[in-house]
This record gives sequence, structure tokens and C-alpha cells, in this order.
Amino acid sequence: MTEKHYVIVGSGVAAVHAAKAIRDQDGEAVISIFGEENTLPYNRIKLSKGLFTDLHSEKVLIKKEKWYQTNNIKVQHGTTITAIDPKDKIVVTADGQDVAYHRLLLCTGASNRKLPMAGTMLRNVHNIRDLNDADQLKDSLVSGDRICVIGGGVQGVETAWSFIEAGYPVTIVEAAPRLMGRQLDEQASNLMLQKILEFGANVQLGQGVKCITGIDCVQGVELEDGSILPCEHVVYSIGIVPKTSLAGQAGIEVQGGILVNENMQTSDPSVYAAGDAAEFQGRVEGLWGGAMEQGRIAGMNMTGSPVAYERAVPVTLFNAFEMYLFSIGQVDEQQCDTSVVPTDSEPYTRIFIKDGLIAGVISFQGVAASLPYKTAIEQGIKYDTFNNKES
Ligand SMILES: Cc1cc2nc3c(=O)[nH]c(=O)nc-3n(C[C@H](O)[C@H](O)[C@H](O)COP(=O)(O)OP(=O)(O)OC[C@H]3O[C@@H](n4cnc5c(N)ncnc54)[C@H](O)[C@@H]3O)c2cc1C
Repeated sequence: MTEKHYVIVGSGVAAVHAAKAIRDQDGEAVISIFGEENTLPYNRIKLSKGLFTDLHSEKVLIKKEKWYQTNNIKVQHGTTITAIDPKDKIVVTADGQDVAYHRLLLCTGASNRKLPMAGTMLRNVHNIRDLNDADQLKDSLVSGDRICVIGGGVQGVETAWSFIEAGYPVTIVEAAPRLMGRQLDEQASNLMLQKILEFGANVQLGQGVKCITGIDCVQGVELEDGSILPCEHVVYSIGIVPKTSLAGQAGIEVQGGILVNENMQTSDPSVYAAGDAAEFQGRVEGLWGGAMEQGRIAGMNMTGSPVAYERAVPVTLFNAFEMYLFSIGQVDEQQCDTSVVPTDSEPYTRIFIKDGLIAGVISFQGVAASLPYKTAIEQGIKYDTFNNKES
């Protein structure tokens, strides 16, 4: 192989941003993206936020077809890569073709964590990771069906909102004592709970699910206290498992995700990984913004332009049940020195402080208000300085 061939396995947001970074650095090389889904890379977040919108619309694509043509990036969708031969630098497609690479990027993403209980094989038990999952779920719904959403994290609550908006009765079941516990403090969770109840949803907190009941099809969910929630569908969202098997089988180091250094390089110097599949400094980020940036960094390094990945301040923007809230940075009070709820803060806002610096913020002020806080956290601005400037 004389020409440079950058091969990217997986066709999500990390892959697109890697391909873009490679093309920006290298106008000549061949770039190929292999994706097992039957579509161009699309905005996966829409699968919960916009479940009942037209998910097959061009608007959902990360880049339109023309962009790939203009940038001479080949996308082979509907093509699964089944093996990597790192010695000969070859990947193998499901239909047996060998594809040679000089640099390989693994952006294989993640699968949804499976519910470990009886009843998950019943018809109408769903979890949404890709377009097919969303299509199948929507096709199976009949007007008036009751839906039990297991998992009260961001994705679960947003999915519940999509169902409520579409007119389906919903119950959210969350094993933890509050909703969105990773992003919200107790008061914000309570405010959210009140709002969700106002929309007629049922919410069961501090309740583990024992099993899903039914014969062929879902008939209900049995909770750990023995009570039964009758429903026709279960939709669960309880975290992700990075797709690492390709890398693992090729002898590339894997733990929770595919291990990468700050250049997104794996234990094989010709192979990189980014996005939900990758583990950096002991963590799989599992976030859209992180996947985008990791893809960009991987692409740069693959072309020989060294640049280190720096984990961004985590940002959750939430827009459902007529609530516009954000949670940025460190919002675990155990990890901070103190916190301030500004007296004039209506809607609710809480600022977390560590070593005098703003470490995190939870606020119902709306997405636009998040920017100054994000900048303050990124730039290490003292709370007093920020407060004086704002007042
Ligand atoms: C419903 C939903 C809602 C979400 N909401 C949010 C949100 O609000 N905010 C947020 O920050 N994040 C959210 N996320 C997470 C976010 O979508 C992911 O972090 C992001 O998509 C990861 O991008 P990626 O490119 O690493 O992987 P993915 O988007 O998972 O793409 C990987 C692709 O690779 C393909 N693939 C895997 N193995 C192979 C193979 N062997 N051969 C060929 N192709 C392969 C997969 O089929 C998939 O198409 C959400 C995720 C879901 C599912």
C-alpha cells in the first residue's frame, strides 16, 4: 500500500469530526468511514429529544451527503467491520473484504446496558440506541398504550417527555431517591419532579424493578416492593457499555473502554480510538460533545499534528416538561467546599464553589444563561470576582 489510507470504523459523531480534522490537515489521503447502520452519520441525541419527529429527515444528519462528496470522504454505510489484523494493518468487512489502512480509528460507540432481570425478552421491551430501535418502538405503539420508562436519568426523562407530548400515559421508575441525580441537587430534582407530576406522569422513586411481567408481550413491571405497574411497553435507559470487542480481539488494550492516551492513541501506535468506545484516564465520557472533540483530536494526531485532549467541563442542557435547565461542572456537594443560592435567583440557581473558584452550577434560568458560568468554570474564575462582575 503506497497511498495513505485513514480507515475509520463506526459512523457516529466522533467519526465525522475525525474525518474532518484529517481532511483539514491532509488534502490528498484516502479517508474511509465504515458504519454498520444503514444511513449517513446522524444526530443520535434526537432519538430521545425528538423521538416523534421525522428522524429520517436530512435535518437529522450530522453532515449532508454533499459534504462527504466535496471533502472526498467515502462513507460505506451498512458495512460492519468484523476483525482487525494489526500486524498486516488490515480490517475485514462482514462480507470478507480486506481493507488496508496506514492509520485506523475505532469509533464504534457503545451499546445500551441491558436490564439484568426476567422479562427483558418480551415483545415491547425497548431501549433506544439507534434509528432502528426508535423506528421499531414507534411502529409498535398503539394509541392509549401505557409506557413504563425505567431510568430517571437525562435520557429517560427526555424520552418520557416525548411520550407525554405524543399523548401516551407514562410512569418513570428510578431506583435512586431522585431524578437526574448525577446532574441535579435535591432541590432541583424536587422542582423537576413537581413539574413532571403536573404533566400527569407517574413517578416512582427509590424503587428498583424486580422483573417485567407478561407472557408473549409486556403486561406490567413488578417493583421490588411487590407492587405491579400495568403497562404495554417498557423503555429502559440505564447506561452504556462501550463496544470494545474488535479492539480486544486484535490484542489492543481494553478495560471499560478502549484505552487511549491524551493523543487518543491506543496501545497499538497505528490505531486510535475516540468517543463512547474510548476510555481516557479511567473514564468513558459517553457524551456528544466529548465524542466530537475526541474525534477531532484523534484525527489531528493521526495526521502527525500532535495535540492533547483536554476533558471539557461537562455540560447537560435539558429542555423537557417546559423546563429549561442546565447543569455544568462539579455539582456534587461532597466534592465542593460550599455553595451559594443567590437570593434573587428565581428560577432556582445554585453555584458550587471549591477553593474559591466556581466549580459547578445548576440552574433553571435557560440554556443561554449557561454560557457565562461555563466560561467562568473553564477559566478558573473566583466566585467573588464573578459575583462582583454580574451584580
Ligand atoms: C437516545 C440517546 C440520547 C442521548 N442524549 C444525549 C444528550 O442529551 N447529551 C449528550 O451529551 N449525549 C447524549 N447521548 C450520547 C451521545 O449520543 C453519544 O455520546 C455519542 O453519540 C457518541 O458518539 P460516537 O461517535 O462515539 O458513537 P456512536 O454515536 O454510538 O456511533 C458509533 C457508530 O459505530 C457503529 N459501529 C459500531 N461497531 C461497528 C463495526 N464493527 N463496524 C461498523 N460500524 C460499527 C455503530 O452502529 C454506530 O453507528 C445520547 C445517546 C442516545 C442513544
